[in-house]
This record gives sequence, structure tokens and C-alpha cells, in this order.
Amino acid sequence: MPKFVRDTLLEKLWKRVAVNPEANACWLWTGSTDGHGYGQIASEIQFGSPVKTHRASWELAYGEPIPPGMFVCHKCDTPACVRPSHLFVGTAADNMNDCSKKGRVRKKLTAADACEIRGASGTHRDIATRFSVTKSTVTSIKAGRIWKYAEAMVAASALEWPRLSEHNRRKRDRPEG
Ligand SMILES: [Zn+2]
Repeated sequence: MPKFVRDTLLEKLWKRVAVNPEANACWLWTGSTDGHGYGQIASEIQFGSPVKTHRASWELAYGEPIPPGMFVCHKCDTPACVRPSHLFVGTAADNMNDCSKKGRVRKKLTAADACEIRGASGTHRDIATRFSVTKSTVTSIKAGRIWKYAEAMVAASALEWPRLSEHNRRKRDRPEG
């Protein structure tokens, strides 16, 4: 994401988010939403189609593009929430299971879980049982097909917006060179 796009998006996003100072509280987007409750920003950025705020938030917070074909899901089941620590990248199946309240039985993995699974020894079936996930999830994590960025996400988990925008502001006020 080019720097000017990043700064513009960050500003647009920040203006309409109700940041709740309580630990682990959702940060709700207060601007326009799509039919499913997801926040959106009208944008020139993505060929004129609106940018989904939770996706933008994830990319801005973690500094990585969302891997192709992957979805940004909510741990908190609140579509309007854009708090980076409430978001995770998942597969289409995760998106179906974790982004909807319907029929969810599997445990929701965190990036930390994914790291543990990646490092766990034993058969995939045993590991699956230990973490209450399916065997295919374990296989996919071990193969790096999903949760590719789990380690980076854990490392970046302290990085949230206020700090990021503070950082950007300082950079703008004091240009390099
Ligand atoms: Zn939330």
C-alpha cells in the first residue's frame, strides 16, 4: 500500500471510530455500513468500490496485505468492530464459521494458537484433539497454507492504532532528512 494511500485511509478510518478505552472492548465504526453490518469507506483507492473498514484496519495495523483469497474475520462476532486485536485472517471456511454466529462449534484459533500448533509434535489427529480443531486445520497450519503470518501477528499484537497514528504523525511533523 503506497504511503499516501495508507495515511489517507488511516485518517478516514480514525475519524469515525468510537474507541472504547476499556481493555478488550470493541472499537465500533460509526460511519456507513453495508447490508451485513460491515463498515465501509467510499474510496478512490480500490477502483471506486468501497473499502471494508475491518479489512483496512487489519492491513493498516499489521502492515501486510491480506493474503490473496483470505478473509478478515472477527473474534468478537461484531461486524462493525475494527479493533485490530479483534480481527484475524482466515480461510473462506473460517469466514463462514467464525464470521457468522450460526452453527459455530469449533474453537476459534488465535495467532498464538496457530504458532503453538505449528510447533506441536505428535500426529495431526492428536494435535487437532488437543486444540479442538479439525485435523485438516492442523495439516493446513503445519503446511503454512493458513495462518501463514501467525508469528508476525503475534509479534505485532501490541501494535494498535493509537500507537501507529502517533508514529505516522511524528513522521509527518518531522520529515526525514
Ligand atoms: Zn470487537
